[in-house]
Amino acid sequence: MAIESYASHTIDIEQRVDFELNEMQLKMIIIAGVLNIIGALLVPWILKGQASLSLIFTWYFILAFLNLSNICFSLAFQFAKITPDKISPWLNAYRFFFIPCVSVIWGMIGVLFTSADLIHQLYLIILLLAVLVCFGLGTISDFKASIISICGVLLPSIIFRLYAGLNSIGTAGHDPHLNLGIGVCFILLGICLSASCYVGYRLIKKSFVLTYVNIDLNKKLENMNKFLEQRVKERTIELEDSLKVVTYQATHDLLTDLPNKRLLLEYIDSAVNSATNNNHHMFGIVIFSLNEMEKIIDGLGHHAGDLVIKIISERFKKAFDKPIIYQFHSINYKVTLSRKDTFIILIDPIFELTKIEEKLAPLFAILDEPVNFEKQTIKLTASAGVSFYPKDGMDAESLLMYASTALMHSKQQGGNISTVYTSDNHNVEISKQIELESKLHNALKNNEFILQYQPIVSLKTGTIACVEALVRWKHPTLGMIYPDKFISLAEADGIIVPLGEWVLQTACSQIKKWHEEGFYGLKVAVNLSSKQLQKKNIVETIEDILRTTGLAPEFIELELTESVAFQKDTISIIKKIKSLGLSLAIDDFGTGYSGLSNLKLFEIDKLKIDKSFVRDLETNDDSKAIVTNTIALAKKINVSVLAEGVENKEQLKFLQEHHCDLIQGYYFSPPIDPDVFADKFKNFKFKPLVN
Ligand code: C2E
Ligand code: CA
Ligand code: CA
Repeated sequence: MAIESYASHTIDIEQRVDFELNEMQLKMIIIAGVLNIIGALLVPWILKGQASLSLIFTWYFILAFLNLSNICFSLAFQFAKITPDKISPWLNAYRFFFIPCVSVIWGMIGVLFTSADLIHQLYLIILLLAVLVCFGLGTISDFKASIISICGVLLPSIIFRLYAGLNSIGTAGHDPHLNLGIGVCFILLGICLSASCYVGYRLIKKSFVLTYVNIDLNKKLENMNKFLEQRVKERTIELEDSLKVVTYQATHDLLTDLPNKRLLLEYIDSAVNSATNNNHHMFGIVIFSLNEMEKIIDGLGHHAGDLVIKIISERFKKAFDKPIIYQFHSINYKVTLSRKDTFIILIDPIFELTKIEEKLAPLFAILDEPVNFEKQTIKLTASAGVSFYPKDGMDAESLLMYASTALMHSKQQGGNISTVYTSDNHNVEISKQIELESKLHNALKNNEFILQYQPIVSLKTGTIACVEALVRWKHPTLGMIYPDKFISLAEADGIIVPLGEWVLQTACSQIKKWHEEGFYGLKVAVNLSSKQLQKKNIVETIEDILRTTGLAPEFIELELTESVAFQKDTISIIKKIKSLGLSLAIDDFGTGYSGLSNLKLFEIDKLKIDKSFVRDLETNDDSKAIVTNTIALAKKINVSVLAEGVENKEQLKFLQEHHCDLIQGYYFSPPIDPDVFADKFKNFKFKPLVN
């Protein structure tokens, strides 16, 4: 098929080239005709006094007439707008009639005007040669025409000279031998000229063909480029769309379409920013919990629960889609859904704490009208807890914690009231935090940290591809403390930097040791905090650790969360780290807000689907959709995808069916001490589930 199309393509080019050459030839006729008429004027001048004037002028007029008709013929031809199929009859007439006539007339001067004067003879021969060269060049784009013109010019002289030579006829006093010699010379000259014309013709044709092939190739390349550009555009749009879907689903509740807690954290962050940047205003966080939801679900089923939450959500959306005006101030209510019975509302800005009841009233007003379900009328009540920025906390975590403490108070009071947080609501937790913080300072020095390792299983090979190193604080009196309790404290006072270094160093040494013990190719994943990336010498630190432990960089994977990885000032550092040969995983994927452009900022090797989505796989359609879409997205951008927090067979089955690459979770193993790991997994081989 390919050969066939190549052949037809070549034929096509040959035809186009032939047509082009023929057209060129027709243009040459006009130039040659004019030159002929002018050039032939030399003849009467050269032969002045040597031949009869009437003979010379008769010769000249025949030649001029033939050339003029030739020119007219060619002009008519140009105006007639020839097509490739019509060109050849015209050309044949020209080749086989005009050219022979004109060239023979020219050749006649060698016969008609033989002179005894050698100088004149020489002039004539030079003129004949010049004419021959002109004819040769003029007809070079048409080889047949070249041959005919060369023969036409030379034949009269050759026949005449050979005849005279052979019959010993001395012409104009010339020696018969000289005539024979001239005749033979003309024959040789004809052969040489024909050969040169052939070479010239082939060269011209070849250069035309090459030009056409070039043009053709360029066109093809251009088309291909256009096609590729189009494909890239389509792919980018496709990817952007799927990422938009993932991001939307990750930030919204599917049932009610209200923003979820992830988006709430964004709202709070931006409220904190605008509060500090603008005019130090306050804002409030309200946790608004429906009191009767559990009873409704128990009595009427999940369906009723879903319906109630949907109706209340619609009322919230309608009531707060625009800011509410209080005494010339417009106040925004951003309503989000945290659980199936709890809304969290950001009220921004707040100017006076004393008038807060007035701001909470519209929230309770939502429940004034009862909800109808299958002929039943359900009257709902709610409890609310409120905290304020900056009075109660400077960040989302503390504001939410204090609002939920206040909510507890409301519930303890019997519900259907709101409580504003005050320090007497709760301060035990805070003093615990302060105590922990002071102990953390000496923990690294006292060797109180240990690493546990959790295996990551490849569903393709059924082997342990990697382990995640997870730090624990083994306090002599408080016992084992898990990272959720101390990592944020360590980040806040900077201890995370030396701690992170210790983690990387210890994990690399452990992996090196395991390689030597037979766990060939095992990789280690290490979590990296944003504070570590902000340190200028992070790249050198990693290089040092690679050098001292002797572990090759391809066995180390760094885990970064989206918010850490895609900050403007960390991108160049991450690129440098990548250039060392380490791989990079995006941790807790789906909980941040990566745009597609972010995913392209540097080469990512893995997406880790957050365990919150895996946990809810069986019960929550949103989570199911997020997991499925994240796997599809990872396949599209060609990175591997890992699901963490896999605890049971059902989750594993779902992930296996959706072609997730890697699995991590209690189903295989919790994080364990290194000495236990070696014993437990020496001969591990996972068999995929079969139905
Ligand atoms: P992460 O990176 O998302 O780590 C996974 C967490 O999920 C670990 O909690 C692990 O014990 C837990 N996990 C594993 N499988 C399951 C499962 O099947 N079900 C459930 N419910 N949980 C599972 P861990 O060890 O408490 O770590 C919590 C977080 O602390 C980590 O989350 C990570 O963000 C941070 N962290 C841990 N070690 C380090 C460290 O060395 N450096 C830094 N910067 N952060 C660390
Ligand atoms: Ca991690
Ligand atoms: Ca994670």
